[in-house]
Amino acid sequence: MWTFLKIIRLNRATVRSLNPLPRGWTVVLRRSCSSASSESRVTNPSILRHLTSKITATGAITVAEYMREVLTNPVSGYYVKNDMLGADGDFITSPEISQIFGELVGIWCVSEWVASGKPKVLQLVELGPGRGSLIGDILRVFHQLQSVLHGAEVSVHLVEVSPKLSQLQAQCLAGEYTCGGEDELVYRTGTTHTGLPIYWYRSVKDVPRGFSIFLAHEFFDALPIHKFQRTEKGWREVMVDIHPEEPDKLRFVLFPTPTLASTTLIHEDEKRQHLEISPEGGVIVQKLASQIAEDGGAALIADYGHDGTKMDTFRGFRGHKLHDVLEAPGTADLTADVDFSYLRRMAGDAVVCMGPITQRAFLKNMGIDARLQVLLRSCHDATTRAQLIHGCDMLTSPEKMGSRFQFFSLLAPSRLTQPWEEGEGLGRRRRGPAPLPVAGFSELGL
Ligand code: SAH
Repeated sequence: MWTFLKIIRLNRATVRSLNPLPRGWTVVLRRSCSSASSESRVTNPSILRHLTSKITATGAITVAEYMREVLTNPVSGYYVKNDMLGADGDFITSPEISQIFGELVGIWCVSEWVASGKPKVLQLVELGPGRGSLIGDILRVFHQLQSVLHGAEVSVHLVEVSPKLSQLQAQCLAGEYTCGGEDELVYRTGTTHTGLPIYWYRSVKDVPRGFSIFLAHEFFDALPIHKFQRTEKGWREVMVDIHPEEPDKLRFVLFPTPTLASTTLIHEDEKRQHLEISPEGGVIVQKLASQIAEDGGAALIADYGHDGTKMDTFRGFRGHKLHDVLEAPGTADLTADVDFSYLRRMAGDAVVCMGPITQRAFLKNMGIDARLQVLLRSCHDATTRAQLIHGCDMLTSPEKMGSRFQFFSLLAPSRLTQPWEEGEGLGRRRRGPAPLPVAGFSELGL
């Protein structure tokens, strides 16, 4: 996850209400929902014990299994037990830095819905919503653009594995909510502060079919990866084993023979020497692609990543510092850069992929500079003005988050093709206007 010590803090104590603002844009007071800090998680011995007994019983485990246990084990997983975001946590993300980020993504959603012919049903689906800040900012935009969305049946669907974070999301987003049973696919339902139905799921496969805009911000980097190395004998998988001299320590080993993953996941044209692949990420992208192809919609995936060039990016973060991935498992975030070339391959031909382009390019194309000016015009408090400017700089500066973070999109092919009238060959004529450009991926004429 991105970490930056000098984060700006827009919190209820320091930000004043700036109403009234032109065009309904307000500065948001946020970060009200917080919980356990990293201070209170010095060690998590139960995960280490669980891992060492598992390895003793069945042998070395894959890096993917290690990540899955450490991050999402239902009893003691890092995501399951912690609120790791923000200044007191382990990392900070773009929606937590500035409200403008979510507002621009909200405009992107509305713009794609309009360009898709304003379908009656609009499902807004977010994977891994964290504290709910991104979706909260988007819902504010939806509320302010009610006249544009008029007539659409909008519903909100959150895919969240963490009971702790989903509770925070419910507190922040929903006026009222009820919890379902442990085994129910929809484990919480409610109504947002703006009156929209909102649902929580553990898996994206449980989200209902229908025209959907899918959002995934810093979600794919949290999914388990397999690691491989090219050897003289072919590809071999990196595994996690118990250190032979120190039974309380873990170490990486290379499996001596091919594994199921090394024989099935690696593309025959692969040129790299080391490789990280997240089949779970691939399956999720396939699900998004098939739903978009059949029901219409779009997906916007934003994360740090590369287009099939990087090799060793698996790392840990604790308290905004790099942390050894095998040290004190469960007390630090584990993450790997997203390989967008792999996601593109898994998405297949049924959808059109756009990007990856840098966060800077996306936000500039979406008009971040104009949005900042609108907010600044109504803001006379020097501290808040400085925070707004600093936040935008963090998001767009190439040395900060502007270059490392990438935006990638899946679109229904019909979104980019111009409808044709019936007829053959030269007799065919264009029907209707040319498709609208995809916001963010090309300049938006504001
Ligand atoms: N999108 C947020 C949070 C990013 S942290 C932001 O940018 O601020 C990753 C989020 O994904 C957390 O909410 C975590 O609980 C969730 N998550 C991680 N693995 C998941 C999985 N396998 N299924 C569903 N949610 C998951």
